[in-house]
This record gives sequence, structure tokens and C-alpha cells, in this order.
Amino acid sequence: MKELNSVRVTTLVDNDVLKRGLTSSFGLSLYVEISTERERRIILMDTSGSFDTLLKNASKLDVNLSGINAIFISHWHGDHCGSLSHVLPLLRQPTPVYVPSENSSGIREIKNAGGVPRVCSEPVEFMEGVMSTGEIGRGISEHSLVMNVRNKGLVILTGCAHPGIVSTVKRAQQVSVVSKVYAVIGGFHISSAREGVYVAEFLRELGVKLVSPCHCTGVNAKNAIANVMKDRYVRNGSGKVFLID
Ligand SMILES: [Zn+2]
Ligand SMILES: [Zn+2]
Repeated sequence: MKELNSVRVTTLVDNDVLKRGLTSSFGLSLYVEISTERERRIILMDTSGSFDTLLKNASKLDVNLSGINAIFISHWHGDHCGSLSHVLPLLRQPTPVYVPSENSSGIREIKNAGGVPRVCSEPVEFMEGVMSTGEIGRGISEHSLVMNVRNKGLVILTGCAHPGIVSTVKRAQQVSVVSKVYAVIGGFHISSAREGVYVAEFLRELGVKLVSPCHCTGVNAKNAIANVMKDRYVRNGSGKVFLID
């Protein structure tokens, strides 16, 4: 897998708010800026289900949605892909939309809004240094966004992590053939302290430097992860910015 110079992730929409003046909505949307030696690309990872929240938060954060080069949809749940038909018409056409699997109504919606659906059933490096894990597991169809930052390692962004956060991280390492994991950010889909400890101990063993669970991660699980990871745990919410370079 190729290497990137830097990755900057801005949480546009999350269940929680971190920055004053922004709002929350049950769902997730991450604005991801990627730099290589030659170019800068922007990916919107999930759109959340509330276009209104997305638009207002983006404007307060001075994020220009029309500059987005590609959309990555982690899975077909409304709190992740629900604003697609509103976001796509704002973008330069035709915008590729990376999805985990075929879904007839979802694919139709993308095409009708001027997007170009790209089904990532298998792992694919669809941009230099940027991969889809391909569809993970056999339950709810989901894929994860994986980036490889020079001298740091993998940055893994998850939607809900329905296939399990541990399976998702292992899959990212396997498909990228990069063992070093720098950051794991997104929904972990766990609620109890016991699950939080289990996940955090796995991530600590791996030497992960930045863990920022949000969206569908329960408060008990978050607290347990914070206890294990100490200063490697970073609170997330609408308005949070991560710069990895
Ligand atoms: Zn979700
Ligand atoms: Zn979900």
C-alpha cells in the first residue's frame, strides 16, 4: 500500500458535540483530507442521516462540501447514508461513491443524484494510500476506510463496526499488509465496560497511538477504553479535528 504525507479528519456530525455552536445528530459524518507528494484529495466518510446538521456544522467549521472528491459509505444504515441524495448534487459531477455491497435502492439513489456507485465487496486501494477493507464478515454489510500515513502507520475509520471493531482492525492490517496501526476512529458498536476493556486491551497490545470511539459506542464502553488507553484516548464529537502527519 502506498504512503500518504498526512491525513486530517474533521468530525462533521456525531451523536455528541465537542465544539460550541455545533449540533449533534444520531449518525456519523467525517470529512477526510488526504495529502500525498503530488496532490490533496477529500473524502466524505458517511453523510449522517441529517443533511441539515451536516450543512450547518460544515458551514460553521468553514468546510466547503463542494470540494469533496469522493464519498465513502461504510454501510447502508440511514444514520450513515441518509443524506446522500442531498450531498451528491452539491458536488462536482460525477462523484464516485464507495459502498460495501449491492443495495438496489441505495444504488438507484446514488445514480439519480448524479453519483457513480463503486461496490467494494473486495479490498481495493481506490486512491493512492487509501483502501476499502472490502465487505467484512457475514452480518450487516460494512467496510472500513484505511489510510497509510508515512512514519505513522494505518489510520482506520469505522462507521458502526457492526462486524466487530477487533475484526475490522485485523482485516485492515491483512488487506493493507501494514501491521502498524496508528489510529482507530469511529463507531465501535459496543456498550458495556467489559467490552470496552476487551477492545482497549487489544488496541493497546497492538501499540495503537490514538483511539477515538464515537457514534454507536456507549458511555460505559468509552470510559473503560479511556481508563485502559490513558492519554491515547481522545474524545470525539461534532467539531473534533485530528491531524496525523
Ligand atoms: Zn450507525
Ligand atoms: Zn449501523
